[in-house]
Amino acid sequence: MNNVVPNHLLKKHQKNILNEKKYNSENLQTLKSSIKKLLKDKNGVLISHYYVDHEIQKLTEETNGCVSDSLQMAKFGQETEADLLVVSGVKFMGETSKILNPEKTVLMPTLEATCSLDLGCPAEEFKKFCDQFPDREVVVYANTSAEVKAMADWVVTSSIALDVVEHLDSLGKKIIWAPDKHLGKYIETKTQADMIMWDASCVVHDEFKFQGLKKMKKLHPEAGILVHPESPMEVIELADAVGSTSQIINASKKLDFKKFIVATDKGIFYQLKKESPEKEFFEAPTAGDGAQCRSCSQCPWMGLNSLENLEKTLIEMKNTINVPEKITLEAQKSLNRMTSF
Ligand code: SF4
Repeated sequence: MNNVVPNHLLKKHQKNILNEKKYNSENLQTLKSSIKKLLKDKNGVLISHYYVDHEIQKLTEETNGCVSDSLQMAKFGQETEADLLVVSGVKFMGETSKILNPEKTVLMPTLEATCSLDLGCPAEEFKKFCDQFPDREVVVYANTSAEVKAMADWVVTSSIALDVVEHLDSLGKKIIWAPDKHLGKYIETKTQADMIMWDASCVVHDEFKFQGLKKMKKLHPEAGILVHPESPMEVIELADAVGSTSQIINASKKLDFKKFIVATDKGIFYQLKKESPEKEFFEAPTAGDGAQCRSCSQCPWMGLNSLENLEKTLIEMKNTINVPEKITLEAQKSLNRMTSF
């Protein structure tokens, strides 16, 4: 199955991002003060992904929340004493927080923010697929709906996917992997595990181009290449480091390069620059020669999170995430395996 994101939806979301007002400094301070007060009054905490607007990331840090990848976001929700979790990211992240913390209130700045991997793996079709291979362990990526997680034996994020599959392979298990085909291929190549793949991809990472990246490397031969494993295999093969968002940030600090070409969502540049202000970072190319349309290394759904809708959500206590109890109980099993692995 290919990505099932209808073009009109993608265009609409891209338009929303382009129309988003830039904050002027007065506006910014007013918004931030208001959100800080609301969080204090409601015993709330911000949990934000590396790909969201850098002002949301900054505010999350200023209020002692958590800016991280989806694995740490899930863990932080369990560790914090706050009653209210405000998750800036995409829908599956809010659902994961709710499943792991059913007693807490989970809000999101927008309920429109989803993910092409989640959309590309509908629960009913995935069930039919799994039913064909009853002897296989079902391993799904965190970027899936609560219903799909409830069907899985394991949920993994990109930071532990390799280790989990290696572990299962060492036990002689055969695997169904879903939904990201590029990450699945990367893991299969690394582990030689017996894997059957679902066919979906990320609209952002699928766009990184081998030829473009090679040309860019020629322009900056001294630069290291950092790649998220949701990218195509030929792009991964050019990398000096491959990994999740957290692993990319760590590699940018540890590797002995002064410049990096980065193949992942550009929201991560805020953290990369913060951690290594003396280093230079370039976006990996996303358009092939002759392309009419240039993607922007920015997730259309992550970009829907803004300080404005974050404030509105807190004022109105809207965009609550709810997951049916039966699905929560099933999904907790596979998610708890993930957080305790
Ligand atoms: S960047 Fe890709 S994988 Fe991440 S939320 Fe957006 S569409 Fe999904």
